[in-house]
Amino acid sequence: MSRHTFQQISPHVHWLSPDGTTDRPVLGAVAGAQATLLVDAGASPDHAQTLLHETAVHHLPPPAYLALTHWHWDHIFGTAVFPIPTFASVETRRQVVAYGRLDWSDEALDHRVETGAEIAFCRDMIKLELPDRTGLVIRPPDVAFTDRVEIDLGSLTVHIIHVGGDHALDSSVIYMPQDKIVFLGDCLYVDIYAPQARYTSGRLFPLLDCLLGFDADYYLAGHHTEPITRADLEAEAALLRGIGQIVTRHGRSPQTIQAAVQTLVGGPLTEDHQELIDAFLAGLPA
Ligand SMILES: [Zn+2]
Repeated sequence: MSRHTFQQISPHVHWLSPDGTTDRPVLGAVAGAQATLLVDAGASPDHAQTLLHETAVHHLPPPAYLALTHWHWDHIFGTAVFPIPTFASVETRRQVVAYGRLDWSDEALDHRVETGAEIAFCRDMIKLELPDRTGLVIRPPDVAFTDRVEIDLGSLTVHIIHVGGDHALDSSVIYMPQDKIVFLGDCLYVDIYAPQARYTSGRLFPLLDCLLGFDADYYLAGHHTEPITRADLEAEAALLRGIGQIVTRHGRSPQTIQAAVQTLVGGPLTEDHQELIDAFLAGLPA
């Protein structure tokens, strides 16, 4: 059985489902009348080829552009499969260029985990997804933008917009106003490279405003197996804002925070609530 499904969510947008066994993220294909724009290059050439295969099977126009949401390995290791103009934020390009110069052997990866330059989770997933990395080429983006760029695919305009956030400062989203769809990449997630998974209200709250400011019905998050509806994102944003404000107000007093969050959610705390509290605590200024 295939590891992925390729589904259409709107007239112009298809998405390839993620696979947590090696942390493969969601990939996308946005088809205009003349050309298709791909969203993210995937965790390996094999992952990238799966996307290419699906665009051909579904008779989409030829892939003409690639947009990268951010620099993390699982979104860029497939770049060499796509010899097409590739768009990314300035900071994404800087990081991808740096990644392309690294030694990706097991020994070098292990060493980077020991020195703190890489995290064990990514090292383990990289080894699983791509055990032999001797021929790995990471192709840098061709076009770098600071704030946003618009691409005309023929009767369809795609907006690539730098939004930042805690997960990766360089994060961009891909927005199709005509279809009311947004590819989020990983921008909504915590900072996994911090010593402890971290949210900061200073980065997260403006991001939530920005995302809900799009006229969108569905949001596709990098490692979510289902699209997020607008109502889901509004509810999640209210929860995140509520917990973030409580942690900011009560500082490092766990019992006061827990009582206030129980009042906010109207019941006992789940593991997810506690994880959010811990992430905002980790994001408080030292
Ligand atoms: Zn990421």
